[in-house]
Amino acid sequence: MIDKVLIINTGGTIGMVNSEKEDPNSPLRPANNWNEIAKEHPILEKFLTDYYQFSPLIDSSDMSPEIWIKIAGIIEKNYENYRGFVVLHGTDTMAFTASALSFMLKNLDKPVVLTGSQVPLQFPRSDALQNLITAIQIAGNDLYGVKLVPEVCIFFRDTLMRGNRSRKIDATNYFGFSSPNYPAIGEIGGDIRIIKDRILDRPANKNFYVDGKMNSKVIILELFPGLNPQYLKSIFENTDEIKGVILKTFGNGNAPTSEEFLNVLKYISSKGIVIVDITQCTKGFVKMGLYEASAKLTDAGVISGVDLTPEAAVTKLMYLIGKGYDTEAIK
Ligand code: ASP
Repeated sequence: MIDKVLIINTGGTIGMVNSEKEDPNSPLRPANNWNEIAKEHPILEKFLTDYYQFSPLIDSSDMSPEIWIKIAGIIEKNYENYRGFVVLHGTDTMAFTASALSFMLKNLDKPVVLTGSQVPLQFPRSDALQNLITAIQIAGNDLYGVKLVPEVCIFFRDTLMRGNRSRKIDATNYFGFSSPNYPAIGEIGGDIRIIKDRILDRPANKNFYVDGKMNSKVIILELFPGLNPQYLKSIFENTDEIKGVILKTFGNGNAPTSEEFLNVLKYISSKGIVIVDITQCTKGFVKMGLYEASAKLTDAGVISGVDLTPEAAVTKLMYLIGKGYDTEAIK
């Protein structure tokens, strides 16, 4: 019987220590040895887990597509041997990793729960222990009386969120994540309540596999009033490498209507580059054509990203370009 959860530790604050042992104000760095920290919390031994540690452990500011592929590979290699997976991760780029994994892990029918903390596990007043224990219980599903969640998700503080809908919204607060365009898939208080009609169905095809050749030749550009279109153009005049652009526009997907700006977008499109329009707003979605200011973007070859988060948009584009699709297929 499969009765364990695999914890995959990539790094992040949850397992960090002060760089100068005796100085609580010294910068935080990943600890070399998780066991040293975890042994201060004997309650963790009550849970059926195995542990895999990345070497080196990283601050998630150093996360990369290569490491996503590595995480996916570890899950693939161990897929049949565990009920589910907990990925310990720095909070800063956790939403990118969750999004990337959601596209790469195909026919997933086990939980992959990302979590971390705002304060290290080793510190007395930390959010780490509860985040970790709850993530283990969600990943372990019916072993702990929790409904199976067959998807990549983020658990933080009191909320289980779909991974590719999540965003880090607070740099210090314990309620650090939110899912602005999709409701919570689980609410966690005294009970762990998984909201059945919000989670994905189990895949019909049971053959789990990893589909991950991420191509990072993409860029995110954010509009602001006064942006000189020539600055934008000069980026693309100097390289033929970029294959995809995420354009963070205003409101419902609006952008300047000047000929000069639109001509720059046409120039970018003419190079076979996919331009995806997503909103700068925290919540809501792109409605191309609602205003003239977005209707003109369609003529310039821009496609709507509807309600994708920036994290999901950029990783989805990396995934699609990585698959070798041409511009039209990606669109
Ligand atoms: N800088 C840290 C990281 O992302 C922050 C955290 O874990 O909360 O690795």
